[in-house]
Amino acid sequence: MKNLVLKNAQYVVTVNSTDEILRNATIVIENGIIVAINPSEIPDYEIFDASEHLIAPGLINTHTHLAMSLLRGWAEGVNLDGFLERVWAAEGAIMDKQTCQLGTELGAGEALLSGTTTTLDMYLHPDATHTGAVKVGLRHVCGPIFFDFPGLDGLEWSQRIAFAKRWPQVFKEIGGAQTPIFFMPHSVYTDSAEHLTEVAVLGLELGARVHLHVSETEAENQMSANTHGKTPTEVIRDTGILKLPTTYGHGVHLSDSDIAISLAHGASVAHCPGSNLKLGSGIADIKHYQESGLTVGLGTDGCSSSNDLDMWSVLRLAAHMVALKHSPKDVDLVKIIRAATIEGAKAVGLEKVVGSIEIGKEGDLIAIDLRALHLTPIHNVAALLVFAAGRSDVTDVWVAGDRVVKGGTLTKIDEAQLRRRVAERLVVLDSLS
Ligand SMILES: [Zn+2]
Repeated sequence: MKNLVLKNAQYVVTVNSTDEILRNATIVIENGIIVAINPSEIPDYEIFDASEHLIAPGLINTHTHLAMSLLRGWAEGVNLDGFLERVWAAEGAIMDKQTCQLGTELGAGEALLSGTTTTLDMYLHPDATHTGAVKVGLRHVCGPIFFDFPGLDGLEWSQRIAFAKRWPQVFKEIGGAQTPIFFMPHSVYTDSAEHLTEVAVLGLELGARVHLHVSETEAENQMSANTHGKTPTEVIRDTGILKLPTTYGHGVHLSDSDIAISLAHGASVAHCPGSNLKLGSGIADIKHYQESGLTVGLGTDGCSSSNDLDMWSVLRLAAHMVALKHSPKDVDLVKIIRAATIEGAKAVGLEKVVGSIEIGKEGDLIAIDLRALHLTPIHNVAALLVFAAGRSDVTDVWVAGDRVVKGGTLTKIDEAQLRRRVAERLVVLDSLS
């Protein structure tokens, strides 16, 4: 189990410290761990013939709401405010615990099929979402969500805190591929400063990391200025949140002072160009962030604002947005690939585990079929990955050496049955539309 050889790969994009790209390389995985690259002897393990393939680390989606896959196409032609209004009504109608699991199975399946092996997923009922994602085989980073008001999960604040205290145990019992503990206060506009402080204190006690939305829109910054007289980044610094390693969802409108504060606290940004463009939230200047030293990962956001979980389109948009904001000469393709892999791993606290193809790391790998005409010829591998490859090119996916996608099909759940379950559950929405 979980012993395999990816043999004779046409290319291996390692994303190691020197961004080596190997030709005709062989990777050996034992008990889910990469133990050898180009060994002198090939062990008698299950063989994947990669001679027509490019092997890369699985992509890391650093900001999403997987269960919202159920609301794909539900809120169109609106800005963030209009979006939240429409989506929250639909969520109110359907998102019980079981449906959160169902939506996450759908999202996790889509993510894996497109070559994403890890997601940082913020949603209600994380016990249910985690159960769903683990069932499909995704490396699923999640955690308790915090709002001031009783959300759709009906939890009062004290119940949220009680659940968060139990979370490490609950999380462990569900199992799945290794991930850190996270706490997810939604944002500074849904959580009071007092409540954020409480989350920070508990998080420090339990060794949690934090994920929240930060400066997604100018309106959010304005609201924060009106309520707190501070930027969202200053609010999370002053409430103690930034004492914990923190990943910002979006981070579109960070001032230079916000960047300096974030950098001093080791915070990172999950850049979501697709969602930011679609909702008109703005263009995050990731070149400036990266040059300032901030860790920048990439994310899709949830499917109700980005419509799919396709990280390839995110890679492409991230590059286009740098060209637009600066110039085509400023687009560093290797940096874009790093953002989707090793930098994303850093942003979620998994850089020692995944994000690159190196001995000692877990085998989270994807195989891209190079026989497609749109991938022919190959003059520049980085350009191929950022500008030409797409999710339909991903044929096989492994998470910790476990083959979760085989020949373009999920191995752990029945896709047709999943589609039927989704259709049955969503009949309820007919009365809302
Ligand atoms: Zn979000």
